[in-house]
Amino acid sequence: MFTAEKREETWQEIGGPWDLLIVGGGITGAAVLREAGRAGLRGLLVEARDFAWGASSRSSKLVHGGLRYLAQGDLKLTYEAVRERERLLKEAPGLVERLNFLAPHYRRSHPGRAVMGIGLSLYDLMAGAWNHRYFGAGFFRTLAPNLRPSELLGGYWFKDAETDDARMVLRLVLEAVAEGQRALNYVRCVGLIKEGGEVRGALVRDGLTGRTARVPARVVVNATGAEADLLRREVGAMKRLRPLRGSHLLFPAWRLPLAQSVSFMHPRDRRPIFVFPWEGVTLVGTTDEDHGDGMERDPSISAGEALYLLEGLRAQFPSLGLSSADVLATFSGVRPVIGSGKAKPSQERRDAAVWEEQGLLTATGGKLTTFRLMALDVLKAIQRRLPGFKGANRALPAFQPPVAHWPGSAASLPPAELLRLAGRYGTALPELLAAAGPLDLEHVACAPTLWAELRWAARAEAVVHLEDLMLRRTRLGLVLPRGGEEHLARVGAICRAELGWSPARWEEEEERYLRLWETCYSLPVSLAGKEWGAGRRDGSGEALPAAG
Ligand SMILES: Cc1cc2nc3c(=O)[nH]c(=O)nc-3n(C[C@H](O)[C@H](O)[C@H](O)COP(=O)(O)OP(=O)(O)OC[C@H]3O[C@@H](n4cnc5c(N)ncnc54)[C@H](O)[C@@H]3O)c2cc1C
Repeated sequence: MFTAEKREETWQEIGGPWDLLIVGGGITGAAVLREAGRAGLRGLLVEARDFAWGASSRSSKLVHGGLRYLAQGDLKLTYEAVRERERLLKEAPGLVERLNFLAPHYRRSHPGRAVMGIGLSLYDLMAGAWNHRYFGAGFFRTLAPNLRPSELLGGYWFKDAETDDARMVLRLVLEAVAEGQRALNYVRCVGLIKEGGEVRGALVRDGLTGRTARVPARVVVNATGAEADLLRREVGAMKRLRPLRGSHLLFPAWRLPLAQSVSFMHPRDRRPIFVFPWEGVTLVGTTDEDHGDGMERDPSISAGEALYLLEGLRAQFPSLGLSSADVLATFSGVRPVIGSGKAKPSQERRDAAVWEEQGLLTATGGKLTTFRLMALDVLKAIQRRLPGFKGANRALPAFQPPVAHWPGSAASLPPAELLRLAGRYGTALPELLAAAGPLDLEHVACAPTLWAELRWAARAEAVVHLEDLMLRRTRLGLVLPRGGEEHLARVGAICRAELGWSPARWEEEEERYLRLWETCYSLPVSLAGKEWGAGRRDGSGEALPAAG
């Protein structure tokens, strides 16, 4: 269990010495911690905010090869990602799930049927499974009746996969900690310790108490995502990252109903847009913009990005008459992309990299999907630095196999629900179910989340703030109206019972969370409450204002 006592215990051990100090608790840091532990290294991970605070809880949630990268000729990246997707589908059932896609094909559209067919055949050959078919317009329309019908010739149906990205990170961190590794959220690395020109540890500050400590380590891994250049600057390295923001809109499922995902080209710039069912709502993404705002606060969608996504949706689903008034929530993430100077953000490659600079190992770039490979690459680099270290066992599964036995209370849950929970909580699921109160096996409103998940997360998953619980341990803040405000009284009762929060602390947390939701997870003020994009149901309504 990851309780406040466990946090304190870990802080008392912080002076080490450690084989490995990992800075950054996104998917990269979590995967390195996990693989290093299994390879026999004693590791500590420090995360400045919450686990998965960065890109790893703000991705498009796809576990995929990325047809876009295939189109850009990046065969290696696509091959590795497709193979990892297949592996994760087997090793993380309930967390990584198949997602069927539809790619409509219109007269004079690009890529055409033949090119798309070749791309998908290559994609499937890489995966070792034949997973696509072409359907004519008649049948295709029955699969997605709200698609723009004019000039529709048909389209491809193919398979990829989706996940809950933040839970993926949590599962890696918690499994690593259960196996003896150490991790602290809300602890920031504020400087590097160098001896003889080589990095030998770091200075860290506890964001909750303000105390500081020296953390000696044989190897320091910089897994700080889009912020990786900041630590690299301390070893005199040149800036290499181009932080690119991607933003998403979420709609109630009834307003943008889909049985499967739709991937279409945005009419303005021919970039692919994904629209798919996720956690009981419909998720739309994404954009690709230089992020000039710095990382001091949560990134958020700009009015221009929101209008761009709405414009694409209205062109593709004209009969739905979607407008900004239909948007349930938004979220944005910043990609750690290695810059090459290309003019357009979407032309930049999404390669992963491990750099060694004065003993500092920086692991950045890449994708959520390929986290395991990234961790194995880091361990290979560590092997070069630590004589006697034999390296990782590449054959081990990414996660511990799911548990096969449930307590009696689970009898009332349908098998699909249990599978979902097993995927998200792994071997902790029996404990989660055993901790559930009499009414905890109910869903929170219409979300797939159970009240039991909130209770368990508050009790055992290193929750420090209400936002950790609402935005990352569960995704209620993204899928319920106004961030779940209506249900906060019951959440508060759980937090008071499990975290010992006083009424004053709860009030403070509630206010902080709702302010954050308002500023970073809803539409920008200039669009909120207005019906931008609303028009006639044939899609020929009023023009959207120009995106800025
Ligand atoms: C909009 C968007 C869509 C995406 N879609 C997909 C997708 O569908 N599929 C896919 O496979 N990939 C996708 N990606 C890519 C994927 O999300 C990222 O490659 C991945 O999450 C990066 O993980 P990371 O751990 O390297 O970085 P992050 O998740 O950003 O983690 C870095 C962490 O370091 C912490 N940190 C920073 N400085 C310090 C410090 N000094 N001390 C301690 N901690 C610090 C931060 O708080 C942060 O939590 C997407 C990315 C974005 C942004």
